[in-house]
Amino acid sequence: MSALVMKYGGTSVGDASAFAQVKDIVSGHAKSGDRVIAVVSAMSGVTDDLTRGIIGAAAGDEETYHKVCQSLRKRHLDLITELLGNDLACDSLISTLDSLISEYERLCASVYVLGEVTPRTMDAALSRGERLSARILVALLQQNGMRSEAIDATELIVTDATFGNAAPIAQPTRERIASHLAPLLDADVIPVVTGFIAATDDGVTTTLGRGGSDYTAAIIGDALNVDAVWIFTDVDGVMTADPRIVPNARVIPVISYTEVGELAYFGAKVLHPRTIRPVIEREIPVWVKNTFHPDQPGTRIVRDVTNTHGTVKAVTMITDLSMVTVAGRGMVGVPGIAGRTFSAVAREKTSVLMISQASSEQSICFIIPTAGTEAVVRALQEEMTRELSRRDIDRIWSDDGIVIISAIGTGMRGTPGISARIFGALGSVGINVIAIAQGSSECSISLVVDASDATRAVQQIHKEVINHGK
Ligand code: ADP
Ligand code: ASP
Ligand code: MG
Repeated sequence: MSALVMKYGGTSVGDASAFAQVKDIVSGHAKSGDRVIAVVSAMSGVTDDLTRGIIGAAAGDEETYHKVCQSLRKRHLDLITELLGNDLACDSLISTLDSLISEYERLCASVYVLGEVTPRTMDAALSRGERLSARILVALLQQNGMRSEAIDATELIVTDATFGNAAPIAQPTRERIASHLAPLLDADVIPVVTGFIAATDDGVTTTLGRGGSDYTAAIIGDALNVDAVWIFTDVDGVMTADPRIVPNARVIPVISYTEVGELAYFGAKVLHPRTIRPVIEREIPVWVKNTFHPDQPGTRIVRDVTNTHGTVKAVTMITDLSMVTVAGRGMVGVPGIAGRTFSAVAREKTSVLMISQASSEQSICFIIPTAGTEAVVRALQEEMTRELSRRDIDRIWSDDGIVIISAIGTGMRGTPGISARIFGALGSVGINVIAIAQGSSECSISLVVDASDATRAVQQIHKEVINHGK
């Protein structure tokens, strides 16, 4: 008998047949005596739709959010009817659906009037999708003879008030999870918890960032000290590259916490970047598995992996980035320029993904998401007004259309020649590398290339460095 947290992502609850698959996996484990806690995402595309509707409303578009409400109502209603038929639970599910969507519609209407959406309102709006899918799964499990209860993670996970990317506060979160979920498990009830959402101490809804349901699962796994956390998704595991970009990418059978952390940080969408943080201390194994091929072994994520000498495990990319450059001959030897540069960026609440400084000190360049670029360049120009007027700094500017490609694997540590192979792979097809950085852990090498070269660069590194020419 094991205690397991199982997280099901958007496509795993994307339609009636996916829900049925989830029900089979959960009930199979429950019947064999495992204690299962399910964590669910919104149906695939729902969080995107909710985002589109409310962002549109803020920009004066009244039509989109009405359409979103209509289509979400229909999609969930069709699903409920298909899954549950005439079950008594249908009526109460449909009234929950109506009230969740009507509240969203009212939020959008006020955002439309105000012409602005705050991060706090955004989180209230985006929390709807998970609340719906959790209740639907509960009804389905109950219809199939299991005891199950939907729990909003707003009752379990206490965060700070960083709306849109909230940070959990460990102690109260652990206490709430234990006090809410342990009695249910003792009574053989399967808790189905909403992924992605949480709340501040005074009960205001927050979210853990896009893709955050993985993180929810890990937080619950840590609090209950479970035997394993299983992340169920729509691919067979963590792969050597995004299979949408590299069709012959392979599943990685075992990977370390460190490697998968780098992979997620550098853009592999398969796991939310903060997922492994809660499970590291207790060394709880995390598995990534395919809902639609549950018999496939998947990927096991553990503390240490042996025998990886010389290998690059995976290649990833992050898109929609810009490179900001601060350049000037008068910067040489002047202390504090870098410090002031990054303080100014931090004041704009923009996180820097990669930094590179030429050894001549004549320029500092760093990579940030394109969305924050204008504000960052403006903030830097203000910060450096004096240096710009004295011509110590000549120019501060940004280049859009930038992509970071990363090659990841602890086996690169102390193995000479890997960067040469990566550059060779790109050079042989004429791809220009704009900047490079190597993490101090030597677990990743990152390169900046132009967006137009990105897909080819990933394919080429995968072919030459990971797949031995195939
Ligand atoms: P879920 O909704 O289940 O959380 P996501 O869409 O968030 O699923 O993540 C799964 C997707 O991540 C896959 O369909 C795949 O296209 C993408 N992906 C990107 N990089 C990788 C990788 N290295 N290994 C596996 N999947 C990856
Ligand atoms: N539904 C949320 C999103 O799409 C969270 C998740 O899927 O993990 O970002
Ligand atoms: Mg995801």
